Amino acid sequence: MSMSLFFEDFHLELQKSVRRFAETELKPHAEELDEKQGFNHKALKKLGEMGLLGVTADEAHGGAGMGAIAATLVMEELGAACASTTLSYLAHSILAVNNLSQNGSVEQKKKYLPKLCSGEWLGAMAMSEPGAGSDAFGLKLQAKREGDHYILNGTKMWITNGPYADFFWVYAKTGPTKKDITTFIVEKTFPGFSVGKKLNKFGMRASPTSELIFENCKVPVANRVGEEASSIAHMSHNLLLERVTIAGISLGISRATIEYCTRYTQERKQFDMPLIDFQMVQKMLADATAEYLAARSLTYEAAAAIERKGLDSREGLLLGTSAKLFAAHRATKIALDGIQMLGGYGYTKEYPVERYMRDAKLIEIGAGTNEVMRIILARELNKGNLPG
Ligand SMILES: Cc1cc2nc3c(=O)[nH]c(=O)nc-3n(C[C@H](O)[C@H](O)[C@H](O)COP(=O)(O)OP(=O)(O)OC[C@H]3O[C@@H](n4cnc5c(N)ncnc54)[C@H](O)[C@@H]3O)c2cc1C
Repeated sequence: MSMSLFFEDFHLELQKSVRRFAETELKPHAEELDEKQGFNHKALKKLGEMGLLGVTADEAHGGAGMGAIAATLVMEELGAACASTTLSYLAHSILAVNNLSQNGSVEQKKKYLPKLCSGEWLGAMAMSEPGAGSDAFGLKLQAKREGDHYILNGTKMWITNGPYADFFWVYAKTGPTKKDITTFIVEKTFPGFSVGKKLNKFGMRASPTSELIFENCKVPVANRVGEEASSIAHMSHNLLLERVTIAGISLGISRATIEYCTRYTQERKQFDMPLIDFQMVQKMLADATAEYLAARSLTYEAAAAIERKGLDSREGLLLGTSAKLFAAHRATKIALDGIQMLGGYGYTKEYPVERYMRDAKLIEIGAGTNEVMRIILARELNKGNLPG
């Protein structure tokens, strides 16, 4: 089913071309990349040729200038084929490129956006640290000004694309309070910057993740984004867009599971009947379908709210946070039921459903955990921001 009430004609065209791309460039490689913890750099470069590496970025600097709905649907389509390559695509296109396009100076955009949008350079965003995950504003990486440079010291943790990225959007502290957060653009060749070892993960294995180390790393003042201590607002905005677009990956995983399990249960017979004729199997498929469609409606409504009312809006915050919580949580459950529907075969690596489950689980943790989503929603209710 390709229709959504939130889609216009150009969304449907985009959906068609991305689905075709995902089927040919991502799906055939997903199993092997998962097994070997590989990285589909070729597919990311091709997404650059399709103009999608800067899906929301300024057209003047090589972006596609599209909105949150388009970005989310690209995530859903790619996510249905290979969620982990899609996570790397998200880190590049949303966490690095969109952030730069929205908040960088004209000079910074001119210098970096064309390379990032074409795929010549890979981008990453570095916020989390070994001691600052859910408490993101509690980050400790220090930046001290010395003449026309800043000197950065500290470490970042869990950075998607870390091992291969050329461009890092880095949040650092330039003062003693939680609000003193400043953004710096760090190139991989800057002195004092290095990448820790690639992490061996449970899922999302074709999305490389690593620690980043800053030891007296020298960053030109020209690579500071905006003024000192001015980053909290845009950091929060980008986190909200990340929530909605990453929910798109959960949708893709849920849809892939439903499609796979429908075909499988039609073909596999027990007691001389296809599995799909058993009511307990039907319950799993039917619940998965209703939950996927509910998550899908909520996610695209959140994306529409962001497009129409902005990342500052109460609607965007409530819908986007709810969408991330619901879509991520449901995708893990749908994939777990998917394993159940395949029985013993579902428990093996010969079938893709256990990968769907491992990939889905990450989205309950990354971009803010389920618990953090609940904290944000409860805080909004407590402030009087009620849904409806
Ligand atoms: C594969 C992967 C890719 C990632 N990519 C990036 C990236 O590109 N850039 C980046 O900056 N970060 C990235 N992250 C980091 C991610 O955002 C953090 O892992 C996440 O925010 C959780 O932080 P943490 O791992 O330190 O867990 P913690 O914050 O230590 O949380 C551990 C548990 O405690 C719970 N908890 C914490 N505080 C509370 C509270 N107040 N109330 C109730 N429960 C609480 C959490 O919900 C969780 O269940 C990535 C993580 C992973 C695993």
